[in-house]
Amino acid sequence: MALNSKIEWTDTTWNPVRGCTKISPGCTHCYAETFAERFRGVSGHPYEQGFDLRLVPEKLIEPFRWRSPRMVFVNSMSDLFHASISDDYICRVVDVMDRANWHTYQVLTKRSERMAGLLRTKLRFAAERSHIWWGVSVEDRQHGLPRLAHLQDAPAEVRFLSVEPLLEDLGAINLSGVRWVIVGGESGRGARPMKEEWVVRLRDQCHREGVAFFFKQWGGVQKAKTGRILNGRSYDEIPARSQHAVPDASALVALRELFASLPNPKSSSLLR
Ligand code: SF4
Repeated sequence: MALNSKIEWTDTTWNPVRGCTKISPGCTHCYAETFAERFRGVSGHPYEQGFDLRLVPEKLIEPFRWRSPRMVFVNSMSDLFHASISDDYICRVVDVMDRANWHTYQVLTKRSERMAGLLRTKLRFAAERSHIWWGVSVEDRQHGLPRLAHLQDAPAEVRFLSVEPLLEDLGAINLSGVRWVIVGGESGRGARPMKEEWVVRLRDQCHREGVAFFFKQWGGVQKAKTGRILNGRSYDEIPARSQHAVPDASALVALRELFASLPNPKSSSLLR
């Protein structure tokens, strides 16, 4: 699956925002923070400012440069619905996704209440596009289940859950309206354990209810060794992508020019 991303369930990552702040137990060992902080102070590096939240408007145009269709994980190094990002900038990011519709976008957040509110209002134009998938993180019942409820209340064509790191037995959960569930254990130093029975319970519920199930990894300190085999096989189910024609070269240039002609957002003015 991965084209230029190591994440098993996507082809590529797109980060028109960088940096974030922690919001729940799933953030404790945030891989994005660990990665970004490694480069704090390294002059000229994209993460010279470490994990500090900032907008990267020059990245907005990137999907127009990718000619072949990709699965795109939006903001793998941030959270698009962070409270400090303005509605205007979020709308600009979603406008790109709406126009560059030959790709499939995976938008994942822990700020589900804000996402749901915007999908009902300023993002309504793109909420039910089949090529934009809206997802929430569910690491435990206390924080994850309210996010799931927000997602289910919002208009969307494809809803998905990232159950990673799975920190406890979720029990039976309400999967109505959910098309895809990704499950994974935490990895790296200090990784919190995940029990097989928790994963099996989710897999079985997904299969009973016709929900695609993707098992990403067991995790642990050495995730390459623990792998991603569950009961003797891997699970790589994923919803079908919608098919949109790739524009020809001249149409692509016109799209890029149209987008470039929009008023240039200034990073600082778009943070709330
Ligand atoms: S919301 Fe995501 S990117 Fe932000 S700190 Fe938590 S895990 Fe990291």
